[in-house]
Amino acid sequence: MNDVVSKLLTLFHQYKVTASLSGHVGQGHLRIHPLLDLAQTDVKSNLHPLAEAVYSTILRYGGTISSEWGTGMLKSQFLPQQFPHLFPLFREIKETFDPQYLLNPGKVIPRGTHWINHLRHGLEKRGRKLSGSGVVINRPSSNGTSTSPLLAGELPREMPSQLEIQLRWEPSYVFESAYQCNGCGECLRFDRESRICPLFRGTATIEFAPRSKADLLRGILEKDIDLDKLVGERAKAIADTCFQCRMCDIECASQIDISLLAFRSKAAYVAAHGLPLDDLIVSRLDNVLNLLTPVNVLFNAAMRNRFMRWLFEKMFHISQGRTMPALTSRPFLHRVRWSAWRHCLSPEQTEKERVALFVDTYVNHFDPQLAEVAVQILEHNGFSVHIPVRQQTSGLRSFAVGHADRAERLARHNINRMSDLIRQGYKIITIEPSSASCLTKDYRHLLDHQESEMMAENVLDFCSLLLRHYRAGKLQEDFQSVPYRVGYHAPCRGLAISGSLTIDATPAEKLLNLIPELEVERIERGCCGMSGLWGAQQKNYRHSLHIGTPLFRALRQPEIDFGVSDCNACCLQMAHGSRKCALHPIQLLAVSYGFLPLSALER
Ligand code: SF4
Ligand code: SF4
Repeated sequence: MNDVVSKLLTLFHQYKVTASLSGHVGQGHLRIHPLLDLAQTDVKSNLHPLAEAVYSTILRYGGTISSEWGTGMLKSQFLPQQFPHLFPLFREIKETFDPQYLLNPGKVIPRGTHWINHLRHGLEKRGRKLSGSGVVINRPSSNGTSTSPLLAGELPREMPSQLEIQLRWEPSYVFESAYQCNGCGECLRFDRESRICPLFRGTATIEFAPRSKADLLRGILEKDIDLDKLVGERAKAIADTCFQCRMCDIECASQIDISLLAFRSKAAYVAAHGLPLDDLIVSRLDNVLNLLTPVNVLFNAAMRNRFMRWLFEKMFHISQGRTMPALTSRPFLHRVRWSAWRHCLSPEQTEKERVALFVDTYVNHFDPQLAEVAVQILEHNGFSVHIPVRQQTSGLRSFAVGHADRAERLARHNINRMSDLIRQGYKIITIEPSSASCLTKDYRHLLDHQESEMMAENVLDFCSLLLRHYRAGKLQEDFQSVPYRVGYHAPCRGLAISGSLTIDATPAEKLLNLIPELEVERIERGCCGMSGLWGAQQKNYRHSLHIGTPLFRALRQPEIDFGVSDCNACCLQMAHGSRKCALHPIQLLAVSYGFLPLSALER
């Protein structure tokens, strides 16, 4: 190993290349990563002789070039050196069983294309200008009013005008994101330690993988794929396979924001064709629920009837397999004015820590009691709570279906409402991590405003706030015992906010662990498969259940009394799949503080 490493270092020195070497020394296993700027065209002329020199050094010392990741498109052309006698036999077997080279093209037994042309960053294309009809795209300035040119030489200065008109991309960001994908395949994993990518795992279809979304956009930016294809059904089908769980944020090796790329692809389709009816309902769910609220009794009765659910599926594409939670007669934001919480209507000047509650659609329309006990817990812990009743839904679902105009309108509205409060010293508290993630991450891509940055810095989800309070020694710990064993599922977007999948315990888990006699078992079986309304749509229902099956199985274990998750959509899915009730941690805290009876856990 010593000799090989020193020979390799001499080679890199000779070719003026910096490289990183890592590996498992005990096994004699070495990972070699030369650090090359593929945008530089002279790299191409050096790369082939360098690769030949490196591989022949390794083979001379009795090593193998296949090792950890096998032999893909880039190494296959060097395989005859490794197997000089056997390689003709490999080729004969290939040509007997796959004469057209259809299976795994380019791998192990290469044909035609030189390996350099398989490099993902297309050496010539990376530096080339995308001219189209010649519209120069400028980078929006931070206040969104004036523009400044993209950095020279760094990114293409020109893009097809159609892109600009239809997509309103910030091209530098989209371009950078698409190019950051190095094809490593980390997003094609099936092991339990990982969650990326729920849809790819559930279907084992390569087009559903995060890499495919990056490939699609890169293909369009490089003009390998016609721009028209971006607004076609095929591209829409690929983009639709991202339900914005944001696991890419933490698990993609290059931390590419794939959900943003998918959103931009969907938005392109919507700009060209309009929103399909099922996506329109998803995007405008809050409006639909406002219309249904006056007839909630009829609606709830209809949703208990199988025929009506079938009709509902035919008309609105919401799966008849889903049982809807009961719609409230008065949404939380409407009832505040006439409830015990009306003192929360105006911001207060007080020495107390001030928080403004963001409730979002589910809690507002289906579970107002959850918001009420959240206020009780906050006040019990000395917070001054304000409920801004003119807040609107976060827009998470509009973002999910590519309804960019609406998502942007909602973001602008909420940011305008909340930024005044933030300037007065308020923190914005969400009940679910998915809302926090939308307010902090998604808004940043919709609006290039100082306010969206300010919002991102001042939004916290409920459990994170209370945990922070606990660590400051200010949490009221007058908890009563709750003698149950619960299975806790960490929602994907919550993990994405925490920045780690392997986090020991989420804020919700840490808080629940403070409750006497409550046993909390973390169930790490990947995504639940619901993702807001995605899993309720008829077209996704089966995939959704398939993705959630490992979690359902774990929850069905007899020693687990019920499920817990800080995302209400996850709770619905957990209850649906396990036939046990699933609750929000706020409900358990409320029971333990005595704000809800113990029987509330047995609903
Ligand atoms: S993990 Fe990220 S960088 Fe690697 S192939 Fe997937 S999308 Fe590309
Ligand atoms: S955000 Fe989630 S669903 Fe979308 S590509 Fe990434 S892992 Fe898959």
